[in-house]
Amino acid sequence: LFAGEVDFLKGVVAMDGLPPADRPEICFAGRSNVGKSTLINALTGRKALARASNTPGRTQEINYFTLGESHYLVDLPGYGYANAPLDKVRGWQQLLKQYLSGRPTLRRAFVLIDARHGVKEVDEEILALLDSSAVTFQCVLTKADKVKLKDRERVMAQVRDRLSKHPAAFPEIVLTSSEKGDGIGELRGIIAGIG
Ligand code: GDP
Repeated sequence: LFAGEVDFLKGVVAMDGLPPADRPEICFAGRSNVGKSTLINALTGRKALARASNTPGRTQEINYFTLGESHYLVDLPGYGYANAPLDKVRGWQQLLKQYLSGRPTLRRAFVLIDARHGVKEVDEEILALLDSSAVTFQCVLTKADKVKLKDRERVMAQVRDRLSKHPAAFPEIVLTSSEKGDGIGELRGIIAGIG
């Protein structure tokens, strides 16, 4: 669906660097190592569009991609690095807050959750921020291939329970495996339907 028409636009470090708010956009957020880069690459059909990066120094940028001419895809910095310096964490939290509450064309945030672990406390912080910014968010479980069928149900139930406490949550959860391709087509369809 998006292959061949997805391009990197720019990395943004401050609000005045955002591209003009001239089209709908969606963003991806998730704990570091949740599989965000891999998922974005699987979605877009490109191998190294989102750099699989576990380097805290690289986490500050909000990366903008164009989906054809119709949408922006926004890759937010991974959160929850154990060793990130506090001033850096504060800096990016502030940018994130400003972005989420100040971007009128942001239609939906996709929050990635590891299917093995479910929603963690560090995820709750971003869910609360999305609530207070009134940004609709949808949870995407990653690495489904690493979880047995019966454990999936348990994690899905935990995530559903957590989401029920968040007014900005979109109830439908998407289960994905970038490795196996599960849920990738479904997620593309969801994104394509966001106008
Ligand atoms: P990011 O920090 O959120 O961008 O995470 P990455 O995309 O770099 O992925 C972190 C690690 O998880 C890498 O070793 C990936 O190969 C692995 N990974 C990502 N997605 C999947 C998946 O669907 N299945 C499995 N088994 N491993 C995955």
